[in-house]
Amino acid sequence: MRIIWSPVQLDHDGGSFVERGRFVRSPEIPARPAAILKSLQSRGHPVQAAKDFGRAPILAVHDADYVDFLVQAHAKWTSTFDGDQPLFPNVHPRGPDALKPSGPVGLLGWHTGDMACEINEGTWRAANAAAQTAATAAECVMATGEAAYALCRPPGHHAGRDRAMGFCYLNNAAIAAQMLSERYDRVAILDIDVHHGNGTQEIFYDRGDVFFASIHGDPSEFYPYFWGYPQQTGSGEGVGKTLNVAFPFGSADGPYLDALDKAIEGVGIFAPQALVLSLGTDAFVDDPHGMHNVSAAGFEAAAKRIAGLNLPTVIIQEGGYPFPGLGDLVSDFLGFFAA
Ligand SMILES: [Zn+2]
Repeated sequence: MRIIWSPVQLDHDGGSFVERGRFVRSPEIPARPAAILKSLQSRGHPVQAAKDFGRAPILAVHDADYVDFLVQAHAKWTSTFDGDQPLFPNVHPRGPDALKPSGPVGLLGWHTGDMACEINEGTWRAANAAAQTAATAAECVMATGEAAYALCRPPGHHAGRDRAMGFCYLNNAAIAAQMLSERYDRVAILDIDVHHGNGTQEIFYDRGDVFFASIHGDPSEFYPYFWGYPQQTGSGEGVGKTLNVAFPFGSADGPYLDALDKAIEGVGIFAPQALVLSLGTDAFVDDPHGMHNVSAAGFEAAAKRIAGLNLPTVIIQEGGYPFPGLGDLVSDFLGFFAA
């Protein structure tokens, strides 16, 4: 398995986020990708440096003024206010009559969806490096027809066209899928992170050429709450091209794999020529953040079934938080994919 990696991704330290009314330490920390990389290297996987594609692949899925905001936010904030404090919004807009403000506090509320996307000095550099890592993996897959793994962080699947959310700033899976869609007529994205990939859903919601399937904990009681419902099926040319399959909160292998089978069936009916896999491992029983109970055997079964689609596949790291076996869980999963 070809592994794509950029150490610049370590420049962002997630700091803290709000969980059930309290500021707590974010689990999205540099130790995550470091543990995964160490395990992959110990098994002899070749690691390839991410190339720099510039802004083009990012601007293909994100609004230019949002990208400018991410680039400038920290410097503007620290030049306006005293000290090097992490950026958190005071307010979020709601309703179609809201207008975009120009000041740093309002702008931060406009471009963030929650209190789990702290911006600090290295955030843009790391997010950009994650996007370039995904783009390099997409290029690799198009060149070889074999699977490649982008060890991306910060993750991406909660980031929308103009909004950071849930530890995510740039949508790495969407960037890879968009690149594939410029080569192939039909591209599918399968998201198996325990949280619904609302940013990816938003970006491709009205597209007929990119199918999005997600399995996730029931959003009626689990993040991101407002997306991931079965009645969200796409709009315009994208009607029927979004498939959400939720499993009950706290599920173990059975409901997780049943949901996966339904998602894989949907992908098969769409008959894509290439696949992007949003690989979150946070449904795992020992994950400190995901609150679900899928076993190692469950992840092995999932990997076998997805690899069985036999598609050129860009595998993008999404969630999956530090515990002693994180690196081996990801390595074991990738072991089922040829390349
Ligand atoms: Zn997640």
